[in-house]
Parts: sequence; C-alpha cells; structure tokens
Amino acid sequence: MQEGDFVLIQVEDKRFLRRITKDFNLNYKKRALKFEDVVGKEFGTLVNGFYLLKPNLEAIILYGFKRKTQIIYPKDAFYIAFKLGINKSSTVLEFGIGSGALTAVLSELAGRVVAYEVSPEFYKNALKNWDTFGLCKNVEAINQDFMDADLSGREFDACFVDVREPWLYLKKVHSVLKNSAMCGFLLPTTNQVSRLLQEMDGLFAGVEVMEILLRKYKPVYERLRPEDIMVAHTGYLVFGMKIM
Ligand code: SAM
Repeated sequence: MQEGDFVLIQVEDKRFLRRITKDFNLNYKKRALKFEDVVGKEFGTLVNGFYLLKPNLEAIILYGFKRKTQIIYPKDAFYIAFKLGINKSSTVLEFGIGSGALTAVLSELAGRVVAYEVSPEFYKNALKNWDTFGLCKNVEAINQDFMDADLSGREFDACFVDVREPWLYLKKVHSVLKNSAMCGFLLPTTNQVSRLLQEMDGLFAGVEVMEILLRKYKPVYERLRPEDIMVAHTGYLVFGMKIM
C-alpha cells in the first residue's frame, strides 16, 4: 500500500474505508492505526487488531461514496445489472444518477452508460464520487432533466429509472429502447408501483415486481444465527420488456 491508496479497515465488526495520507490516523476503542502502520504493508495484513484489506466495488459504494441522495444498495444494484442483461457490448440509459451508486455498478458491466441527473448539486457529487475512485470512465453523464434530453437517433439496449414519478417518462423511454429491451425501475412505495403498472400496460411485456431481502448472519461458527437487525426495505423493483 502506497500513500494515496484506499484501504478497507476491518476492526472487530466495524469497517472503515480510508485514503492513506501522511496525517492518516484511525482510533477505535483503545487502539490506534497511523500512516506508518499502513504504508508499505501488503493488503491482508493484520496490524494491532486492524485488518488492512483491498476495497471492492461494494465496499467503495457503501463506505466510500458521499451520499447526497438515497442510493440503490449493492444487494439491489447487482441484481438489477443482471436482470437488465447487460454486457460489454450494451449501451445502457439511466436516470437519475443521484449519488452515482447504481451507475458505478452498471458501468462495470456495460460497454457504455448514458446517464442523466437534473440537480447540479447531486450531479457534481456523483462525478466526484466516481473520480475519487477512478470509476465510470465509460459513462456519458449529463446534468439535465431527462425530459429535455435530445436522444434523437439513439437507441439503448436497456434502461434503469430511479425517480419519484417514472410514469411521466415512460413514453420517452419506450421511444429510445430497442425492441424487447429490458427496462427497470426502483420505487419505495406500493402506491407508486401500482401507478407504474397501470402506465406500463401496452408498452412493456413480461412485467415483474419484486423486492430483494438480504438477511445477514453473525459469522460465529459455534453460535451461527441471523443478525438481530436487518434492512427490511429499500425499494420495490419493477422490470418489463419493450413491446412495439
Ligand atoms: N440511483 C441513484 C443511486 O444509486 O445513487 C439514486 C437516485 S436518487 C433516489 C433520484 C435522483 O433522480 C435524484 O438525484 C433526482 O435529482 C433525480 N431526478 C429526478 N427527476 C429527474 C429527471 N427528470 N431527470 C434526471 N434526474 C432526475
């Protein structure tokens, strides 16, 4: 590990993601971890009760991204990417970018992502999140209301929509998707899902509604049991394929 690198620090059941700088200093209970304890060490080393690990994309999103909006959590994001059926030859459309969490996952798996965010503040924050971790080089990010986007002549292999009233944009999304392309949505309430289903009728087929519940276990081999507290609700996922 060199100065400037990011390190995921696991101490007991806590995780921290930190950049290694000269003034690096992490205190946990009565233990301390300083710059000289980390720099020059291999990932995987144990120092004074702190495990020094290499952060993966999930850790970067959960512990490294600055959140100015709700984000799509990795448990949903990785499934969304799978469900959209994207690969390195796909061009994916997405709005709104929010804090850029889902975009980071889509960007890893797709060839290109074209993504819109209406708020200048959230747009700048997402770009900073990606830049800090060297992510999303294949993302064309546009600070604009998707409704005003000029997409004439463009076609997309898949789309994901994470805004409050997605039904307002359905016709426009439909017009820029390839036939049979998958479109996904995340909505926090069932009322929104009902409204969306009504509006998808006649535009999308094979519609599915689902939610993903992730129940973690305490990794204690002699007393293996679920965690007491879980994230019970993030959002409902809706998927459908464009029909002509
Ligand atoms: N999926 C994002 C993530 O994982 O970080 C979070 C998205 S956040 C919940 C919803 C975002 O949609 C907000 O940042 C909001 O400003 C943006 N938004 C709402 N309407 C929009 C529109 N018409 N065009 C573009 N962005 C829009």
